[in-house]
Amino acid sequence: MTLKLEQNVQNHIVKDTIKMIIPIRCFSCGKPIGHLWEEYNKRIEAGEDRREILNDLGLDRYCCRALMMGHVDLLEEVAKFKKF
Ligand SMILES: [Zn+2]
Repeated sequence: MTLKLEQNVQNHIVKDTIKMIIPIRCFSCGKPIGHLWEEYNKRIEAGEDRREILNDLGLDRYCCRALMMGHVDLLEEVAKFKKF
């Protein structure tokens, strides 16, 4: 069971299909930002300027911008550990 889980996690990492856990709303102002993450990430990988992307996505306040820029995907790491 555990081995299966680890294999699944590794498969996800290899295929790079694992989903993000970005906060749905900005912690500070409450603006919904979770739905913007995939586009943001795609455009980052395409080599676009972060400032331009954030402006295009309509993230004007620095609280939301910081949340997007500071987000680190730790799901792969966390998934290795059992809760109990
Ligand atoms: Zn905000």
